[in-house]
Amino acid sequence: MSFTYFMPTKVIIGRNCIDQNPNELCKWGNRPVIVTGKTSGIKSGALNDVIRVLKANGQEHYIFDRVINNPTLENVAEGGAFAKNARADYIIAIGGGSPLDAAKAVAVLAANDDMKPEELYSGEFEKRPLPIVAIPTTAGTGSEVTPYSILTYNEIQNKKSFANDDIFPRVAFLDASYTKALPHDVAIHTAVDALSHAIEGYVCVKANKMSDMIALEAIKLFNECYDALSLGALHFETREKLLYMAMLAGVVIAHTGTTIVHSMGYPLTFFKNIPHGKANGLLLGQFLKFNYEAAKDKIDNVLKIMDISFVDDFPTFISELIPQDESFTDSELTEFAEIAITAKNVSNNIRKVSLEQELDIYIKSLKG
Ligand code: NAP
Ligand code: ZN
Repeated sequence: MSFTYFMPTKVIIGRNCIDQNPNELCKWGNRPVIVTGKTSGIKSGALNDVIRVLKANGQEHYIFDRVINNPTLENVAEGGAFAKNARADYIIAIGGGSPLDAAKAVAVLAANDDMKPEELYSGEFEKRPLPIVAIPTTAGTGSEVTPYSILTYNEIQNKKSFANDDIFPRVAFLDASYTKALPHDVAIHTAVDALSHAIEGYVCVKANKMSDMIALEAIKLFNECYDALSLGALHFETREKLLYMAMLAGVVIAHTGTTIVHSMGYPLTFFKNIPHGKANGLLLGQFLKFNYEAAKDKIDNVLKIMDISFVDDFPTFISELIPQDESFTDSELTEFAEIAITAKNVSNNIRKVSLEQELDIYIKSLKG
């Protein structure tokens, strides 16, 4: 046995957990900048709770609420300048994966004066990023417990991640009240993203005993929520289970990374504006089929938990949640495959994959 387990984020779960743990929110400094999306902070109710607790603790705060979906380098540079001007000493991230990932970049840029945003991708910084508090308002990315930030890099026409242990949030507050206002389609896409993290982390080169145990639990929890997700009947208990599941799946990828599902999903988001979780969901079935012979025992475990008889049935199972309703030309898919095959995480796939095979996965997933 040989692996490292490292998860430095304190996770606090429960209804009203911010109100009940004010010191865990406020202890990181005196001048927080809140990084959030245009609406997610308000619609979730989290922004209100945070401001109330900060005020009660006598802290001034500044709000950067301009994070866009799939944040770009330009967008996080604006946030970094805002945080520098505000002389922020810690960052509170509120929102889905987009604001959480943007906040990680803002925390780095605010601490490192002359850093150009594209230098983030080196994953190396002279000064330690500002401390980050994370409050997820979607149940999907698990960014609250990962050392990754995924940013849109217009120059290379793709999304690209950077990683550093110092961007693990110091504390994450998981209150399922905050996911109540999620539109049904976003709830499904984000839950499928988390499922994808659990499955990719389980079926990959870097999986280890502990990440496997956590991944199987996350897959089981997803399955328990499948009917409610499908019907759109997401009561507090189900939303809490999904939030917990997404966090567990985040812990998995913090250790294992992702695989070709994610790197093949990024061009679908960049060029076709397909939401991140939906992009993964569209590819997941063919990913399992492609890898089946190389990881039969593990994939059979996944199918058993999900009560699916054959790997060939997985695409139908997922398409009931995520219908494939986009159209693609052959030349688009060829271009996506050429981009996706250059990603780092291709080597994390359990079976060696070629450009032609990635193209075949695209065709079967999106035109089959
Ligand atoms: P998102 O882009 O953060 O949000 C999707 C939409 O949902 C936005 O319009 C957002 O509004 C809205 N929304 C969020 N919370 C809401 C709430 N409680 N009520 C109502 N509306 C709400 O989606 P996401 O899937 O969570 O994050 C995707 C991003 O995370 C991608 O960039 C992806 O690459 C990244 N990601 C990161 C990791 C990691 O480990 N760091 C892992 C996987 C994915 P606003 O626009 O107002 O915010
Ligand atoms: Zn993801």
